[in-house]
Amino acid sequence: MAAMRAFTKGVPPARPSGLMPPFTEEHEELRESIRRFVLKELRPHVQQWEDDEWFPNEVFHKMAAVGFLGLKYPEEYGGEGGDYLHDAVLSEELALCGSGGLAAGIGAHIGIATPPVWKFGTDEQKQRYLVPAIKGEKIAALGITEPGAGSDVAGIRTFAKKVDGGYVVNGSKTFITNGVRADFLVTAVKTTQEGGHHGLSFLILEKDMEGYSVSQKLKKMGWHASDTGELAFQDVFVPDENLLGEENKGFYLIMANFQWERLLMALGAVGSMQRTLERTIEYALEREAFGRPIAKHQAIRHKIAEMALRCETGRAVTYNALRLFYEGGDAVKQVTIAKLKTQRDAFDVADDALQVFGGAGYMKEYEIERAARDTRLGPIGGGTDEIMSEILGKQLGL
Ligand SMILES: Cc1cc2nc3c(=O)[nH]c(=O)nc-3n(C[C@H](O)[C@H](O)[C@H](O)COP(=O)(O)OP(=O)(O)OC[C@H]3O[C@@H](n4cnc5c(N)ncnc54)[C@H](O)[C@@H]3O)c2cc1C
Repeated sequence: MAAMRAFTKGVPPARPSGLMPPFTEEHEELRESIRRFVLKELRPHVQQWEDDEWFPNEVFHKMAAVGFLGLKYPEEYGGEGGDYLHDAVLSEELALCGSGGLAAGIGAHIGIATPPVWKFGTDEQKQRYLVPAIKGEKIAALGITEPGAGSDVAGIRTFAKKVDGGYVVNGSKTFITNGVRADFLVTAVKTTQEGGHHGLSFLILEKDMEGYSVSQKLKKMGWHASDTGELAFQDVFVPDENLLGEENKGFYLIMANFQWERLLMALGAVGSMQRTLERTIEYALEREAFGRPIAKHQAIRHKIAEMALRCETGRAVTYNALRLFYEGGDAVKQVTIAKLKTQRDAFDVADDALQVFGGAGYMKEYEIERAARDTRLGPIGGGTDEIMSEILGKQLGL
């Protein structure tokens, strides 16, 4: 993992509490390295990329050069030979860049679109898609959501008709992160006319395939630096060798992927809360009103204490879920709790920070308004809070 140590010196400690399970000294070294990279290579450009509503693909190239796109992937595919915990560190620390959109674009590539290729792909598929993705040469997106099917995955209508040598795909996807720039799309399609969860399969579609088009780059409330695409497929021929996993068993792939996606979202929220908390403490100690720093007014002090509480409890449940997931046990309940606990809290923390910053918080310059807009996606994406509550209810036997 030599590449991981490329950026290490002179970075402040990531968290106040030092070493916390399941992380080890090695992960903390990586954490410092990532922080240094984020502060040097990403954060200075974030305002520009937010204004442009686009971050350059060069970000992927730079991250690939220091091994960050392949932390958990095996060395034989160009990865760093690490595991989920290394990616977890990356996900938490990326929040330091201050742009939910940038973190999401990177996260969609590393965290949700390439893992199914790694876990369920053939060696040939890994060579064709995972290897260039780890090098940052091909950008990936995951396409599940459709105009008529979001929370209810069983409502997917995009249909792949079996023909000689492959499939002919017709349909559309929406709200796809990296959807505009993606070179390939790991896509959920129906392969039978049966209803419900049956007959879902995964196909890898390529941007250059005839009939594949980006119908729209969507305008959003937050996540401005990321491209969110609406995609259309008209008689797209997809060869047999692009079927990922078993035909009609795609629902299992989707569910397996969701656990990791939700954990990554929880980790990102923890990182975001930590960053916002630190900035708010700094501001509240500096800004004076009625002859003293606003931090010395009890109402503000209590608000910040509440923010710290959300951050610390969010971290505790998230690290607990991560540990269980990493150990390979059934972590559905804990992952669900982590996602549910952290997403609304991250928004509330940003909203409280906005209040503490007063008028300054409403100004773009301080990046607090961006945090509020960006974190609002958390209770919606990757499974809404209502769906998380439903899953938790089932886990409780209700
Ligand atoms: C910026 C952004 C990026 C995204 N990136 C991706 C991506 O890369 N790939 C991808 O595939 N998708 C992506 N999504 C889609 C995202 O996962 C969905 O928006 C999300 O799953 C919710 O689906 P929906 O928007 O269709 O809402 P709906 O399913 O229509 O839900 C609407 C409301 O009804 C509630 N609801 C639905 N069912 C129930 C129920 N049974 N009980 C109680 N309440 C219910 C929901 O909680 C919600 O409040 C992205 C979305 C956004 C906004």
